[in-house]
Amino acid sequence: PEVVAQAAANELQRPPAQCGAAGAPAGFIGYREYRDAGGYSTAAAVVNCEDDAEDVLRAMEHSGLRGLGGAGFPAGRKWRIVRGQEGPRFMAVNIDEGEPGTFKDRFWLERDPHRFLEGMLIAAQVVGTEAVYIYLRDEYHSCRVMLESELAALQADPPCPLPYIELRRGAGAYICGEESAMIESIEGKRGEPRLRPPYVAQVGLFGRPTLEHNFETLFWVRDILEKGPEWFAGAGRNGRSGLRSFSVSGRVAQPGVKLAPAGITLRQLVDEYCGGMAPGHELYAYLPGGASGGILPARLADVPLDFDTLQPHGCFIGSAAIIVLGQHDRARDAALNMMRFFAHESCGQCTPCRVGTAKAAQLMEAPGWDNATLADLNQVMADASICGLGQAAPNPVRCVQDYFAHEI
Ligand code: SF4
Repeated sequence: PEVVAQAAANELQRPPAQCGAAGAPAGFIGYREYRDAGGYSTAAAVVNCEDDAEDVLRAMEHSGLRGLGGAGFPAGRKWRIVRGQEGPRFMAVNIDEGEPGTFKDRFWLERDPHRFLEGMLIAAQVVGTEAVYIYLRDEYHSCRVMLESELAALQADPPCPLPYIELRRGAGAYICGEESAMIESIEGKRGEPRLRPPYVAQVGLFGRPTLEHNFETLFWVRDILEKGPEWFAGAGRNGRSGLRSFSVSGRVAQPGVKLAPAGITLRQLVDEYCGGMAPGHELYAYLPGGASGGILPARLADVPLDFDTLQPHGCFIGSAAIIVLGQHDRARDAALNMMRFFAHESCGQCTPCRVGTAKAAQLMEAPGWDNATLADLNQVMADASICGLGQAAPNPVRCVQDYFAHEI
């Protein structure tokens, strides 16, 4: 249980990230180094219309790149949809990385911020957005300082005409990682998810069509255009396509961000990328998608990890936060920890989530679970909640009931 508690509290309890020149991770690439190594030449070619926007769109579609914040919507298709809406259009970048166990965006941001900014400029140009709002998790204090400084360097010596760019601070709410809540927050309102439709691509920021992207989705745009869409599409394994940045924590020998093929299995990921299990621990269970994605038993460690592959098992990959449990951990403790987290982070807008998560957490504290009442609550939360928080909150409960009944 403590490893899951650790993951859930991961970012809140962590000292501020060390970004930028002072205390930067080894290999940090600042503006000048990035430019000197050929950076921003792809963005300049796109912005200056040397590269045709339709070719860029087709490359994005062929790459198979999907939204890496968790939703998995095909990026190229999203660009085309927003581009087809009447202007003015806006862009919102989600770096509110708050899913427990997820730290991949910060990992890349701390090391190579301009690769992301270049992807952002390319997307802004192809989609034709007037302004870009970057929403950064407030707990990433040092990343903000670094990003402000790197943006200033970019704006002082631009490689091409730049759109209006504004860096916004979050205020610590998990729900503001949900795209419509983030947009409300950028507009200066309470971070409460919107009912959809209309979708953000149609009616988003300030009522205008908005291209909303997770940080990492934009991070790969430059490489896809320079190396070709086949480079990204061909990287999968077990019949899947693309690359994923897995945030691996828990009972493994070498936790951290692992860039691996989409569709790799948990067993392969642990053995090939994490140095195996930590000494004294045997694989018992794993969370394939942070707090929201459910919990699977060790016997399902050979299921490909990707969008769509985990649904038959009642789980999803989300932002690819993998939390590994050993034989001394209990799935029910992990599930209770998650439910307390959801109850705490519920925005309170709708009753099934606001009341359901708190009531479920109470029921899960009993030595033996009242499975019938929990099943009722699960159904109501999944069916009647406005957003993904309430809809996904039952996942860990259901998984314990389905796979770890001996614990309850
Ligand atoms: Fe808010 Fe929960 Fe309703 Fe989402 S499901 S809108 S977090 S109360």
